[in-house]
Amino acid sequence: MGKARILLVEDTKAQATKIKNFLEVAGYDVIWVEDGMSAIKAAKSEQVDVILLDLVLPDIDGNEVCRWLRLNEETRDIAIIMLTAKGGTPDKVAGLTAGADDYLPKPFDDVELNARIYACLRTKSLQDELKKKNKQLEDMLTQVETLAITDPLTGLYNRRRFEAILTKEFRRADRYGHPLSCFMIDADHFKLVNDKFGHHTGDTVLKEIAALILKNVREVDTAARWGGEEFMVLIPSTTKEDSLQAAARIMKAVTGHSFSASPEIKVTLSIGVAGLPDKAIDSEDKLIQAVDTALYEAKEKGRNRVVMG
Ligand code: GH3
Ligand code: MG
Ligand code: MG
Ligand code: MG
Repeated sequence: MGKARILLVEDTKAQATKIKNFLEVAGYDVIWVEDGMSAIKAAKSEQVDVILLDLVLPDIDGNEVCRWLRLNEETRDIAIIMLTAKGGTPDKVAGLTAGADDYLPKPFDDVELNARIYACLRTKSLQDELKKKNKQLEDMLTQVETLAITDPLTGLYNRRRFEAILTKEFRRADRYGHPLSCFMIDADHFKLVNDKFGHHTGDTVLKEIAALILKNVREVDTAARWGGEEFMVLIPSTTKEDSLQAAARIMKAVTGHSFSASPEIKVTLSIGVAGLPDKAIDSEDKLIQAVDTALYEAKEKGRNRVVMG
């Protein structure tokens, strides 16, 4: 750790020189300014750890300076010790209320000043440590939250997240009478891809299919991995008839894709489509059943096709 840096704000030159000398001997790096405006400027630009702030200054009152430093994002965490000839309780209260961490009436003992600076630095280092830990915890929480909703192989939303979004979108569509469209997408004869090229290659193919699905839907749509080689897409504010365009786009993108593992790999998709409005669909579960049935029909009819339920 480098030297702690102290900003000394004191307009009485003789006092300032004395304090500065003492602090430098005690091992601190000292910046000395003589008025409130210079103090604020230095606090913002000089990376100081502690400010020794005289109450009576030629321009702005020390309490004002203190308030300003506390309101400002860049300076709010700097420890402030007020130094003043006024030692009465109301003055102390005013200083502490303005945001000072400590209050030292003049004349003070150098050793006491040093002890108080030390205490401020200790508190500050604990606060910094705490902030760092908090930040680490927040980052971890964000990571955990992301993991909990993401499919690890493809990076798409996982089934659980899809179900949560479906519940929300279904209710919204139902309530406002908006259309809502859903696809269940299954890779055709995917077992053959694994058999011929190996499971690892199968994984890379699934990843690329996922990316193609995502690329061919809008930002407001939701694409998720439902499980295995099955995917779901949810398209709000769109009738199932209108969503057929998107289904066709996805089919074309996957069928025409040259997979990175081998140009020999060819994949087609079967897609079941269903949506609102539909008198037979009054719940999310019924919507899932409907896309599942439509998908089954697409498979039965020979695969590589879209069937609307
Ligand atoms: P179809 O859907 O056209 O009826 O035939 P299919 O061969 O795709 O369907 P089936 O349900 O018989 O098999 C699904 C295949 O998908 C078998 C399984 O090994 C493969 N699969 C499921 N999940 C994964 C995965 O995470 N990675 C890889 N590589 N393969 C997977
Ligand atoms: Mg003064
Ligand atoms: Mg399947
Ligand atoms: Mg399949």
